[in-house]
Amino acid sequence: MTVALKTDHEIDLMRHAGKLLGQTLQQLTAAVRPGMTTWELNKLGEDIIRGYGCIPSFLDYNGFPAAICISVNDEVVHGIPRGDITIEEGDIVSLDAGLIYKGYHADAARTVPVGNVSRQAERLIKVTEECFFEGMKYAVDGAHLYDISAAIAAHAKKNHYGVVRELTGHGIGKNLHEEPFIPNYRPFFRKGPKLEAGMTLAVEPMINEGSRHIYWKEDNWTVCTDDGSLSAHYENTILITDGEPEILTLI
Ligand code: MG
Repeated sequence: MTVALKTDHEIDLMRHAGKLLGQTLQQLTAAVRPGMTTWELNKLGEDIIRGYGCIPSFLDYNGFPAAICISVNDEVVHGIPRGDITIEEGDIVSLDAGLIYKGYHADAARTVPVGNVSRQAERLIKVTEECFFEGMKYAVDGAHLYDISAAIAAHAKKNHYGVVRELTGHGIGKNLHEEPFIPNYRPFFRKGPKLEAGMTLAVEPMINEGSRHIYWKEDNWTVCTDDGSLSAHYENTILITDGEPEILTLI
């Protein structure tokens, strides 16, 4: 597998895309309130992205009908925003957004607690973020891609959580999804491609409170946990460098 390396110019554009997306998610996270519909939240997200002069990556991507994926409680990812889904106190809401700046994508996700949530929900969100940062310890030039995957899985397993296997992180650049695909577990004892400075990757643990198994809702987008347990998602677009990874969508 050959993974394209970005030029310095491309990296500058992706840095800017990442910064704008980080700001978008920060604003969206701060706006989440009980009583809001997920469609209102989507509209706000789209307005913020367009306000930066950018294009929402997800709108019309393979026919996805909105700018932001909003997944509530047992929904893992790819929830379609709707006017009849109202966010309630105690929910956890995953916001996954992407934007295009001068032809380059950034992709990131946060799971937000709405008001007072259960201690279990709080812990799931925290551990899912930790999984990402455990992975980052291996996101260095010369390491292998699935070392990131294995670190994510190990931290989730230590906390007795399920790691979704059907969906993965991915390379990112001119396209929203590029090679390599980045599972959140090590597939078949393999090492995966060698990481090199200049690779840009979207690393995104999707962690379930219960079993790892999932199903697709009838809308053919929304992914839910099979056992109805909560699920959290945390994602950033990163740049592999000669030293520590640069997390482009974290501000
Ligand atoms: Mg992604």
